[in-house]
Amino acid sequence: MSQPGTAAPPSGLAHTLLNGMRLRCPRCGEGKLFSAYLKRKDACDNCGQSFVSLDADDGPAWLTIAIVAHIIIPLLWVFERDGSLSYGTEFLILALVTIACVLVVLPVAKGLFIAAIWRIRRDER
Ligand SMILES: [Zn+2]
Repeated sequence: MSQPGTAAPPSGLAHTLLNGMRLRCPRCGEGKLFSAYLKRKDACDNCGQSFVSLDADDGPAWLTIAIVAHIIIPLLWVFERDGSLSYGTEFLILALVTIACVLVVLPVAKGLFIAAIWRIRRDER
């Protein structure tokens, strides 16, 4: 607990990961993490924290697949159980929902991974 007047930015693990999921700097929570949809910035505009070596590689893609599959598979099950839609209509709906979910989840997953990597490296020092 911080004393009044000596408030430092919260630095708990959950706060760090939440900053990443908000696509914000894991250190200060203010500067943007990406300069484009998935393009990581080199440093935070607010605090100057370097993001250069924070590469999430394939982790965000795997997390996105795991999350989106838990949305699409039950939806597919509902469509098949109902049976009122043609296969073409089912495919169109599932493809559009999949694309929309991936577009939403992927940057959040990448922000989460970058924040986690930043946190792990910070704690190793
Ligand atoms: Zn920052």
